[in-house]
Amino acid sequence: MKSLFTSFVCLFLMAMNGFAQTDDAIAAKAKKLHFSSIVLDTHIDTTPRLQRAGWLFTDEHPDGAVDLPRMKKGGLNGLFFSIYMAGTVTGPKAVADSIERIAAVHKLAADLPNEVMLCRTAADVKLAHRQKKIAALMGMEGGHMINNSLATLRMYAELGVRYLTLTHSVNTEWGDSSTDTPKHNGLTDFGKDVVRELNKLGVLVDISHVADKTFYDALAVSSAPMIASHSSCRALSNHPRNMTDEMIKALAAKGGVIQINYLDSFIDEPLYQYSLKTREASRARMQELGGFTPENATKVREEMAQQFGPAPKVTWEKIIEHIDHAVKLVGADHVGLGSDFDGGSMPEGMKDATQLPKLTEALLRKGYAEKDIRKILGENTVRLLGEVEKAAAGLRKK
Ligand SMILES: [Zn+2]
Repeated sequence: MKSLFTSFVCLFLMAMNGFAQTDDAIAAKAKKLHFSSIVLDTHIDTTPRLQRAGWLFTDEHPDGAVDLPRMKKGGLNGLFFSIYMAGTVTGPKAVADSIERIAAVHKLAADLPNEVMLCRTAADVKLAHRQKKIAALMGMEGGHMINNSLATLRMYAELGVRYLTLTHSVNTEWGDSSTDTPKHNGLTDFGKDVVRELNKLGVLVDISHVADKTFYDALAVSSAPMIASHSSCRALSNHPRNMTDEMIKALAAKGGVIQINYLDSFIDEPLYQYSLKTREASRARMQELGGFTPENATKVREEMAQQFGPAPKVTWEKIIEHIDHAVKLVGADHVGLGSDFDGGSMPEGMKDATQLPKLTEALLRKGYAEKDIRKILGENTVRLLGEVEKAAAGLRKK
């Protein structure tokens, strides 16, 4: 006869085994779900790297966050390459430089026809997924890049640009940015024309980066649902780049989607407060170093830590908190992913695209339904693309 102690040990081991199996089962389910889903990130800043001589998308790089091998490891099968330009670059130079960025994405798809498909429509993204190719789309980050010309905007759309962020970090001549001093009280009449033109072209109106008033002006004018391509929740972190609950609700009420940004200084309130404290010194140093690059950002951050003390630590679970906050507010149909990979500092545990399966597993463990997780991972963005195309077709018929 077994002693009481032996029986207890046996029962304990059986229970632990049960837990382990449940745990393994969830992990396996998450993996299967993640790697069978459309995982479409609406804001990735890898485009300048594509333009670097000798930099290959097909190599796994020790730095940065996104390349083909790491996308495959992380199950990231779709992305909007940001056609990014500092808001201070304006006029013909902004147009010329934009064309070069766009050309780099076209070249990537042309060079890797079996791996990358340049996508313009919802149907294209679905086809790329069926063919197991990366769906490459383009989002233009900053209304300054159209050089105040609707004709130029139309040409960008012809080249495959699928969203226009109305402003970047500074005001344009027709719209206020969230990180500049308000000048136009939102959108000017021309700014409203830009929104109407985007609607006609079937190009998404992106309200990440814009001032709150610009958001509400765009929302009032746009006849199609809009996107926040890379913004998080201001209720959790008071950064002006994030959206208030009221804005998230208004965006969703018109069918739009908020794509959660992962940048550590956006998603964490203590780090945001720290960034306010270090802002002036860090700006001055960045200028000395020749302007923003991810490498310069790392260097400046290290120097600020020496001067002001270490920055508060932020871990990847904060991303889940923002997703969950937005889902609780407006439901899983209106939330997605817009990492800002290669655009700044990521939280610990989310250094690059290989880490993405964690998000799926965390949402599953939180009790999210598989169909809702698929929506957040990419299906909402595909639906939004389709709705905006349909709205544009309707406008063309009128
Ligand atoms: Zn941005």
